[in-house]
Amino acid sequence: MFKYRLRVLLILIFGGCLMVATRLFCLQILQGDYWTNYAKQIRLNRRSLPTYRGRIYAGDGTLLAADLPAFDISMRLADLDSPEPDRRQPEFQRRLAEAFKVDGLRVQDRRDVRLKLVRRNDQWCVELSYSGTIRRLRRASPPLSFVWKGSYVNEAVSELRTVPIPEPMVDTAARLAEMTGQDIRVVLEAVRKTAEQELRGRAGRWDVCPVLADVPYDSVLKTSVLREDIQGFFPSDKLVRQYPHGDLAAHVIGYMTKVSPDDYRTYRTEYKGSRAKRLFMNDTVGAAGVEAKFNDLLRGSRGDELAEKDRFGRTVGVISRNDSNPGCDIHLCILPAQQRAAEKVLGDHTGAVVVIDVTNGEILVLASSPRYNPATLSNDYRRLVADPEKPFYQRAVKPYPLGSTFKVITSIAAWAKGIDTAAVHECSGAFRIGGLKCSATWGHGSIGFHEAMKKSCNVYFCELGCKAGADALAEWSLKMGLGELATPHELYGEDPGLVPSPARRAERGERWYLGDTANYSIGQGELLVTPLQAARAMALLCSNGRMVRPHVIRRIVDASGASLPLPHRDPESVQLPPGAAERIRRALAAVVNDQGGTALRAWQGWQKPYKAAGKTSTAQRRVLDPLTGSPRWDDVGWFVGFAPADKPRIAFAVVVEHLDHGIHGGDVAAPLARKIIEAFPDDFLTGNKSIAGTTKVQSNQ
Ligand SMILES: [Zn+2]
Repeated sequence: MFKYRLRVLLILIFGGCLMVATRLFCLQILQGDYWTNYAKQIRLNRRSLPTYRGRIYAGDGTLLAADLPAFDISMRLADLDSPEPDRRQPEFQRRLAEAFKVDGLRVQDRRDVRLKLVRRNDQWCVELSYSGTIRRLRRASPPLSFVWKGSYVNEAVSELRTVPIPEPMVDTAARLAEMTGQDIRVVLEAVRKTAEQELRGRAGRWDVCPVLADVPYDSVLKTSVLREDIQGFFPSDKLVRQYPHGDLAAHVIGYMTKVSPDDYRTYRTEYKGSRAKRLFMNDTVGAAGVEAKFNDLLRGSRGDELAEKDRFGRTVGVISRNDSNPGCDIHLCILPAQQRAAEKVLGDHTGAVVVIDVTNGEILVLASSPRYNPATLSNDYRRLVADPEKPFYQRAVKPYPLGSTFKVITSIAAWAKGIDTAAVHECSGAFRIGGLKCSATWGHGSIGFHEAMKKSCNVYFCELGCKAGADALAEWSLKMGLGELATPHELYGEDPGLVPSPARRAERGERWYLGDTANYSIGQGELLVTPLQAARAMALLCSNGRMVRPHVIRRIVDASGASLPLPHRDPESVQLPPGAAERIRRALAAVVNDQGGTALRAWQGWQKPYKAAGKTSTAQRRVLDPLTGSPRWDDVGWFVGFAPADKPRIAFAVVVEHLDHGIHGGDVAAPLARKIIEAFPDDFLTGNKSIAGTTKVQSNQ
């Protein structure tokens, strides 16, 4: 009897131990992660602290981009989800978790799961469906019933279940909506979207997800005070990128966009080795301009805070805190007053303006039209994308055919080859090869270099170019910076353009003809040049081949105030043939100032104490008509030059697209260039005075 009792007792003890062990196994091993997080959730709350993104300044210290604090009302999916019902969790959260639960669904690709908010029988419901290729749907478990969608044979949609959203949840959402003056649909839709993002792997369940973005401060206060009424929702602070000057230099500054699903998946634990820089679902990153090119430097690193909270989410005490580190500030060379003037002058024209300080290589103006406004981009995006003139396209760094302005490089190539440019050529109105026409129908007669440049005689420069040869033209194009990125480390979306040569064409198995060389000499054919490259070539001519490489970044300063090393910039050093630069500059001054010059008309009534110089050109290119989609010819007008003519301080390029038929570059681009030069103070151009903040650096002659 005693033995029997002992055995029963032992069995009972052993059974009890087994039960405890099983339960422990369940809690610690199977659901360990959940309960660890859950426990921390209740007592300790670790939150990521926002960090200020670096500011962007113009050349005179004008603030162009900065972060400002703003508030969202947010939620965390973890608050709505639980592996087993728990009395401590509010009723609505538990039931919502059931509504959104898809654990029974084993589909190949969760990215195809969709949730839809619907109103059925006077109740708010979520409808869960899955769409994917038939192959993937067949593998789904439990098996899905297909609903065919239109004519897409490979796409099928399966409606899995419709679940009513629990009443308490709807009530809470209604209270939040009332407090913030929103529609309840907006709140429920935000919850649905967050749940869908999580199902599709775009958000972690511990991520703080905004339900209402950019809420006014009084709503934030109200929701903070009445927090127990809206359990599951809480105010959260964030930083929003502001662009106080709207579209000023928009293409240089760029804009921000929400992190892409792929980047989120890649960088959600750490970003290039830094956990403090990891991306969260609703983070924004630079999408163009300096914002994109210098995104890593501009982004600060986040801090975090471990705080003790009560069950209503109120902070009881802070246990530890790592402060966040703001990103680096970037100072541009752009002068806002002159940039704005250039943008105003461009007005409704489609085109671009570049102005470079010859003495130190700083890019003072880089304007492109049409533009976008990074401050209002989220509202304008659809309209901008649909615009046939492509406002996101930064024309200042995109390739165009150059035309007559190339005659400057033809002259240098001829000089370098020792060809006698003093020789006079006979212009009859057409060139002997290819029948190229000259601007003067009956010809310019006997003409020398100075007159030929002033009047833009095609025949003269075709003679010069054919004597120098296509290889020399290509060689000097490259030396003057065409065919390569002018700022490989600074400007976003720069195009290298194209410098054609017989060798390049031979690679394609095609022949180079003498007619091609004649075309090349006057900037026609395959040659493509960006406005920035044209201005850079002109700046090289003005500095006798010696200047700092063009750049748009003047300074990068970290949070401690220390300057960071700048992107690599090689000093330019082009050995121009002796005397060539001065003679070409004199001829370009004649284009603007002397009788018979092609740009004289645009400069009539010029009152300034200095003169300007430059070269007009008109070039044709094939474009696709945005409306009909068929190719057509488009005339592009250029004016490329420098000022003052005798002692250049700035070099510039102005390009305008879509010239009316018969209108020349000199008629449209030259008057724009005049207004842009006028926007610079006289003593900046003539003296050694600098505009506030700019540095006058003597080029290393
Ligand atoms: Zn001629």
